[in-house]
Amino acid sequence: MGRFETTFCLDCGLGAFPPRFFCPHCWSQAIQWRALSGRGRLYSRTRIHAAATAFADDAPYDLALVDLEEGLRVAMRLMDGAGLELDAAVRLAVLVYEDGPLFCARPVGS
Ligand SMILES: [Zn+2]
Repeated sequence: MGRFETTFCLDCGLGAFPPRFFCPHCWSQAIQWRALSGRGRLYSRTRIHAAATAFADDAPYDLALVDLEEGLRVAMRLMDGAGLELDAAVRLAVLVYEDGPLFCARPVGS
C-alpha cells in the first residue's frame, strides 16, 4: 500500500528528501520525481518514551534513521523492530492515522 517518491536532480543525479523544487547539492532546478524502491538498511535507532501529544498513545515507540538504496538517509518510525541489529534490511510501509498516512520502516520478512 502506498507509493514512496522524492525528487532527483537531472544535473548531478543526487536525490533529496524531503522533496525539493531545486537540488540542495548543486542548486539546479532540473528536478524529476522518481519512485523509491522502499528498501533500505537500519542506520540508527532510538526509543521514544516522552512522546509528542499526537503520538502519546503509541509511546514508547522506536524511531529510526534508514539508509535507502537510493542513497538517502531518512528518519521514520520503526515498527516491529525490537532487537533489530544495525545495518539490518528494512522495507518501507504505510501507517494510516485519522488525519492521513505516514511512512515507517519494518524488518524485511515481518
Ligand atoms: Zn544537483
